[in-house]
Amino acid sequence: MSGTPAGVQPDHPLARLTTVRTGGAAEWFARPATEPELVELLRWADVEGIAVGLIGSGSNLLVADDGFHGLAIKLDGDLASIERDGDRVFCGGGARLPSAAAKAAGWGLSGLEFGINIPGTAGGAVRMNANAYGGQLARVLDWIEVSTAAGTERREPQQLGFSYRRSNLRSGEVVSRASFRLRPGDPAAIRATLATMREQRREAQPSGIKTFGSTFKNPDDERAEGRSAGQLLDAAGCRGLRHGGARFSEKHANFVENFDAATSADVLELMAEGRRRVHERFGIELEPEVQVLGEVSWPSGWEL
Ligand SMILES: Cc1cc2nc3c(=O)[nH]c(=O)nc-3n(C[C@H](O)[C@H](O)[C@H](O)COP(=O)(O)OP(=O)(O)OC[C@H]3O[C@@H](n4cnc5c(N)ncnc54)[C@H](O)[C@@H]3O)c2cc1C
Repeated sequence: MSGTPAGVQPDHPLARLTTVRTGGAAEWFARPATEPELVELLRWADVEGIAVGLIGSGSNLLVADDGFHGLAIKLDGDLASIERDGDRVFCGGGARLPSAAAKAAGWGLSGLEFGINIPGTAGGAVRMNANAYGGQLARVLDWIEVSTAAGTERREPQQLGFSYRRSNLRSGEVVSRASFRLRPGDPAAIRATLATMREQRREAQPSGIKTFGSTFKNPDDERAEGRSAGQLLDAAGCRGLRHGGARFSEKHANFVENFDAATSADVLELMAEGRRRVHERFGIELEPEVQVLGEVSWPSGWEL
């Protein structure tokens, strides 16, 4: 291909860039370190008619076994930096949220504590409207910068159409920077909150496993009677259920674990079975929270 920008690599494996460690390669892959580099890549992809996919920490991502027919981008350098200016923290879209939460604590800034348990990036968290322990991203988000082939523009939180695990960002729109407006606080007290949150998490969720966290969204359906997706899966007999190398975790039934060289197809089959069982038992159609990169064929039985 002519005029391929510097640093673009062909046929790059993606499994290692996801927390569940499944899936194939990207046709093209790049790690831009600055905003001009990123926009140049997006322009190239636009001109060549190449699809663009973003990989943050890959903590809510399932890559198709056949890989991604397009340009997969992982933000690096400046685009993954964490800086402070007064009571604001500026993160590159690729900055890790737990690192930002820990740095903010060290700077005596409060408001980002919820990020300590979300193993994603600032960009992935904005895209997914990530949340934990009642800390709302939108409450502390000041603005984001969104890069496309047309350049970079600033958007305010109220323009992002946030709802449960959703924003209105379209594919190809890259969160290249985010500013968080925090409150001054006592570093020791903020660190103590982080330690408590980590401990709560250790008790509630499995650690050290290959997973993408919550598989399904908690349903907004009165038949659930307030139960979470995990509780519904558990009640439908899915805890520990296996398909190939994938299983629903024994500790948290909404977590899929790659326990033995699973493929993404194994994960999809397991998801379809969990969804089918919950539908059969409660009449509820669970919707995936996990995002898919590449073309997958949903197993037969997915459409209920
Ligand atoms: C153990 C574990 C615990 C978890 N706990 C929580 C939790 O408590 N709360 C919660 O909300 N989530 C949780 N998650 C899920 C996940 O961490 C969040 O959804 C996180 O926000 C995803 O960020 P990421 O950078 O990993 O995004 P990825 O998984 O890499 O990507 C997710 C989506 O965001 C897009 N994306 C990524 N970066 C950008 C960017 N810069 N610009 C535009 N789009 C982008 C991707 O293309 C994809 O569509 C957990 C996951 C795990 C593995």
